[in-house]
Order: sequence, then C-alpha cells, then structure tokens
Amino acid sequence: MRGYIPRVLWDFLIPDLTHVFRWRVQLDCDCIPEVLTREDGTPPHEAQWKALHSPLPPGQMICHHDDSPPPPYREIAEWGERREVTFPADPVEPPDDTAPRVWSVLRHDEPHTSAFWEVTLACGHVEEAIAPSLDWVPASGPRCAAPERVQQMSAEFEDAWRANPKLQTERDREHTRRMLANGWPTPEPEQLCYSCPQARMILAYERIGWLVPRQRQSGKAAGTAPTPSRSALERRLRKAEAEAERLRAELDRID
Ligand SMILES: [Zn+2]
Ligand SMILES: [Zn+2]
Repeated sequence: MRGYIPRVLWDFLIPDLTHVFRWRVQLDCDCIPEVLTREDGTPPHEAQWKALHSPLPPGQMICHHDDSPPPPYREIAEWGERREVTFPADPVEPPDDTAPRVWSVLRHDEPHTSAFWEVTLACGHVEEAIAPSLDWVPASGPRCAAPERVQQMSAEFEDAWRANPKLQTERDREHTRRMLANGWPTPEPEQLCYSCPQARMILAYERIGWLVPRQRQSGKAAGTAPTPSRSALERRLRKAEAEAERLRAELDRID
C-alpha cells in the first residue's frame, strides 16, 4: 500500500486522509515546501516536526541540503531515556580502514552489551550518547583519565598534529583539545549534532486547503457557487420580504 501513498504521508498512519490539511511554508534556507498536518487548527510553525526519530524544537523543520556545513559539536544539556543494545562478536578480519594491530586492540571477541542514553543538546536537538559502562548513570558524572595519561596523550596529539596537519579537521582538533583540557571525560560532554546543519526555521506559512477537498455543506451558497437563476432569486426575495413583514408585525406588538 505504501507504494501508492506519497512518502510524506506515511507518518500520519490514519486511513482517513480527509483530516489532512495542506500548507505552504517558507523556510530560512529559502525553500518553500508544501507540508501536511492533521486537521487545520495548528499552523505549521506551532506544530512539532521531526528529525529522523526525535522531535525538533517548535518552529523548526528539516530541509536537507547537500551543501550544508558539517555537524557541529554541542554540549549535552539533558539526559533522557536509556536503552541497552547487544552486539555480536566482531569478525576476526579487520575492517578495510583499520590496521590489523589497531583491530587486535579494538576488537570484541565476544558479544557485548552497551548502554545508550538519549541526550538533548544545548541547541535543543536530540542525539544518543554511549555510557562508559552498563551501571553508569548521569548522576555518576563523567569518568576522567589519570592526569599523567592525559598529559601523555596531549603530547602525543601535539606530535601527531605537527607531523600531519590534516590528521583532524579544525572542528575535531578543537574537540580533542577540549577533551584533553577536561581530563578526557567519558561519556564525552559534547556530541556531534546531525540535526543542526539541516534544521531550518519556519519564517512564514500559507494555507492551501484540505488534501481531499470537502463537500460543500448542505448545498448552501458559497463563494464559488454558480449564479442562481432569476426565478430562484425572486423566490428568495419573496421569502425575505415575508420574513421582514413578520418581524415588522412583531415589532408593532412590542411598541
Ligand atoms: Zn531548504
Ligand atoms: Zn543541533
């Protein structure tokens, strides 16, 4: 059935499309897409739109542009729901982009379970953070590396950046510096926000109409009704005059 319904309608999951209202919105990326809401009571800038699976702050919508900037790091402002995910043992063969020596250190040779926490970032967008262990809770605070180890890592990074200035992008290098300055905390206090580069503000909106045009109510004249015939108009006039006459008589009684 999905093949016959535009992708944008899948979210509605309601069989009755007569409750779907069409709007045109202007976004701050200059795009003017058409959007749909259930009923017509909530204008698009007050409705809650989604980025992949999580709600966006009010007034924002996702509009994907291939030339958007890379995701920025944002500080974690709030910890939300927790879930556990079990992974199978890693294959013996290293992935294409990993050296066998590094793989021998990283590889999990048995199935393992990690805890993921939903986090709200300072920008209001939602991402997921991996906890350092299954028993970790936000109240535990981040775990830091030993100061001597951090000092050693700091020297190693400086050497590596000197040897290869393109080792990390400017953004990642600044993130690494902040991690070192804070004692290499886990979980990391900031995350990449994949919503920020594609989230747009709704600047203006316009009503288009119901997705399925509604039947005119009980045949009463509307703006687009055909012009009534002369005899119909005369009939209505006589009726209106009779009603006026009745009201006048009623007024006389009150006087
Ligand atoms: Zn756009
Ligand atoms: Zn964001």
